[in-house]
Amino acid sequence: MSKPLSKVTTRIALGALSGFLTAEIGVGLTTVFSHRGLAHKGVEFGSAANKTMRGLTWGFVGLRPRQWAGIHRIHHAKSDRPGDPHSPFREGLAKVVFNSMGLYTRFGIEHAADVDRVTRDIPNGPELFKTGWGVAIPITIVGVLTRDPVFVAAGIAAHAVTYLGLQGVVNGLAHWGDISTGDPTKNLGPIVGVFSWGETYHRNHHTWPTSPRLGFRRGEPDPGWFAIRMLEKMGQARITRVGQSAMDRQLTTPSV
Ligand SMILES: [Zn+2]
Repeated sequence: MSKPLSKVTTRIALGALSGFLTAEIGVGLTTVFSHRGLAHKGVEFGSAANKTMRGLTWGFVGLRPRQWAGIHRIHHAKSDRPGDPHSPFREGLAKVVFNSMGLYTRFGIEHAADVDRVTRDIPNGPELFKTGWGVAIPITIVGVLTRDPVFVAAGIAAHAVTYLGLQGVVNGLAHWGDISTGDPTKNLGPIVGVFSWGETYHRNHHTWPTSPRLGFRRGEPDPGWFAIRMLEKMGQARITRVGQSAMDRQLTTPSV
């Protein structure tokens, strides 16, 4: 009796681990390519990196990069004011933490013209998906090859929980500070900082939005910045003047 059960447990564990890893790759692609690159123009990528990250975004995230960038630009322009697509102060903390993707999707549909207007500088690249929902094509491919529905179900569940959970932490918890100061964003700790690839150093980001580097103080490891530096060494990334000047300001700001 115990043998088959442990086999199922192993398949669930392997599926969940795979889903977690694909979600982490998806979070990395979102912050490096769609966020720091497309939305804020803090870094420009070479043709090979650009095409690779766009293609991988189809398979590991499923979002539409240009639409994501537009919604995100509107978020910065109207942060925690009327018109913010996902403010916890306007929508409620629980809704932003647990349903950020739903808010993105709804905003993209209801404000398609505004999103298009603020992204005229971003070329309309090829898009494989028309929805904002994350998908886990690699897990599905493995599932088809192995014909293991348990692995696939565990993988997709872990992918969704990880990706959507981190999105909720960034948009909800990292925005849930003292609104009376005018900027309620916070820098969360290094553990969630690593898993979010640096996205949860959110006070840093809202202070210097064009900087491609989000964590820069002691205790702010920033895997997204590390990936950009790797691409730069390979000749596939260039820190822009906008991003560079924001970064210089960061690096001369005393630690707090
Ligand atoms: Zn941003």
